[in-house]
Amino acid sequence: MKLLIERLCAIVGADGVITSGAALATYESDASQDRGTPTVVVLPRSTAEVAAVVRTAHEQGLPIVPRGAGTGLSGGAVAVEGGVVLTTTRLNRIQRVDLANRIAVVEPGVVNAELTNRVAPHGLYYAPDPSSQPACTIGGNVAENAGGAHCLAHGVTTNHVLALEAVLIPSGQVVRVGGPAPDRPGYDLMGLLVGSEGTLAIVTEITVRLLVRAEGVATVLAAFDGVVPASEAVSAIIGQGIVPVALEMMDGMTTRAVAAGLLEDAGAVLLIECEGLREELDDKEGPLATVQAICRAHGARDLRIAFAAADRNALWKARKSARGALGTLAPNCYVHDGVVPRSKVPALMARIEAVAAEFGVPIATYLHAGDGNVHPNVLFDARRPAEAERAAAAGEAILRACLALGGVLSGEHGIGTEKQAYMSWALTGTDLRTQARVKLAFDPDERLNPHKLFPTPGFCGEVRGASRPPG
Ligand SMILES: Cc1cc2nc3c(=O)[nH]c(=O)nc-3n(C[C@H](O)[C@H](O)[C@H](O)COP(=O)(O)OP(=O)(O)OC[C@H]3O[C@@H](n4cnc5c(N)ncnc54)[C@H](O)[C@@H]3O)c2cc1C
Repeated sequence: MKLLIERLCAIVGADGVITSGAALATYESDASQDRGTPTVVVLPRSTAEVAAVVRTAHEQGLPIVPRGAGTGLSGGAVAVEGGVVLTTTRLNRIQRVDLANRIAVVEPGVVNAELTNRVAPHGLYYAPDPSSQPACTIGGNVAENAGGAHCLAHGVTTNHVLALEAVLIPSGQVVRVGGPAPDRPGYDLMGLLVGSEGTLAIVTEITVRLLVRAEGVATVLAAFDGVVPASEAVSAIIGQGIVPVALEMMDGMTTRAVAAGLLEDAGAVLLIECEGLREELDDKEGPLATVQAICRAHGARDLRIAFAAADRNALWKARKSARGALGTLAPNCYVHDGVVPRSKVPALMARIEAVAAEFGVPIATYLHAGDGNVHPNVLFDARRPAEAERAAAAGEAILRACLALGGVLSGEHGIGTEKQAYMSWALTGTDLRTQARVKLAFDPDERLNPHKLFPTPGFCGEVRGASRPPG
C-alpha cells in the first residue's frame, strides 16, 4: 500500500491522491444505492498521468474504476472490490471550440452544462441534456450513453460524439477512435466505447458535435386527469408526424411532489417543447398549434405555453427537479429506466400501478414519454429491511414487465451493478459470451471496472433470480 501511494503521488502529486477514511467516503457511492470503499482515489490532470496510473495499478494487481461526477444511477462508478478509483474531475478543460465546423474538443471531466454555457454566445449548444447536467461530466455521459429530456428529436450522446481518445488497460497505451469526418475505415470502435460503462477503456478526450439554437422555441405544459389520456396524447402527437424536441410526462405523485402550487391536482402532466422558425410556431396550423389541439382533444384541462427563456425555464423547473423532490416523500428512492415501445407506455403505466399495490410500496413515475423511457421511482425506507426487499422486488417486477412488452432494461442510466443480474433475462448465453469476448479483447485481466454490466461470474448467462435489496 505504501509503495502504491508513493508511486501515485509521484505521478499526480500528493494533492491528487486521497487515502484517508473521511475523504474516501465521498467516493464510496454514486447516486444509486450501492456502496464500495476504494483503496485509493486518484485525480490525474492529463492523459499521460492517466496512462501512468493505469500501469501502476496493473503492476500492483489492483482494479481500476473510472469515475466522473458520481451522479450515475446504476452503481457504475462504485469500487465493488476496492482498488483505484480514477476520478476525472481535474481533467476538466474545454480544449477547443471550432465554430466553423461546430465541434468542441473536451476533457472527460467537463461538466455537461458548462459546454453549452461556453458556446451559447455563439448561438450553439450541446444537445444531450441529462437532468443532472449541472453536475454530471461528459466522460460519464459517454460511458453511459446518457440521454435527456431534449434527446427525442436530436438523439442521445452517441449521436453527438465524433471522436474519442482513450487509455487502454493494462498497457496504458493511448488509442484514438472516430474523427471529424464520417465513415472511418475499420470496426466502429467509437460506437463500442460509447455506452460501455467504463469497462473497456478510460476516455480522456471527447470530440462532440454542437448544434445551432433554433430561432423560436415554445414549451407547452398540459395537465390531464391521468397517465392514460396523457399517454394517448403522446402517441397522437407522434402519430401526426410531429417530433417535438422534448416530450416528457410526470404522473400525479411526482407532480404533487414538485409542483409547489402548480397543477397539484393533476393526474399527469406533459411538457412538450417545439422548435422552429418563428413563423412556424405562430402558424395556426403548424406543429405547435396541432400539439395544443391534440392535448385538448385528449382531455387536457389546463394548458400553459411559454416562449421567453425565463418562462420556459419556470415550466421545466418542476420536471428537472423531479428526482430531488421525491426525496421529500421517502428517505430512499430506487429508480429504474426501462424502455418500452411508445404505444406500450399506457400498459406499462398500468402495470406499475398494479406493482405498487402488489408490493405495498409507493411508486412515483416520470418519463421521457416520447421515446418510451420510463422512470418509476420506488420509494422506501432502507432502515426497514422488509421494505427494502419489497422495493427491490417491485423494481424487478417492473423490469420484467418492460421486457414482456418488447422493451429493454435500461434506456440511459446503464446496467452497472444494479441490473447486471437481469442481463440474462434479456440476452442469451451466446449473446453474453460474445460480449464477454469483446470485454476480454480490451481488458484481458478483467481489472477495469470489474463486476459491472454483466452477470458474474463469467458472463455465463445464469439467472440470479432472487431479488437483491438495494443498498
Ligand atoms: C438527479 C439526476 C438526474 C439524472 N438524469 C439523467 C437523465 O436525464 N439522463 C441520463 O442519461 N442520466 C441521468 N442521470 C444519471 C447520470 O447523471 C448519468 O448517467 C451521467 O452520465 C453520469 O455522469 P457522471 O459524470 O456522474 O458519471 P459517474 O457516475 O461518475 O460514472 C458513470 C459511469 O461512467 C464511467 N466513467 C466515468 N468517466 C469515465 C471515463 N472518463 N472513461 C470511461 N468511463 C468513465 C464510470 O466508470 C461509470 O461506469 C441522472 C442522475 C441524477 C442524480
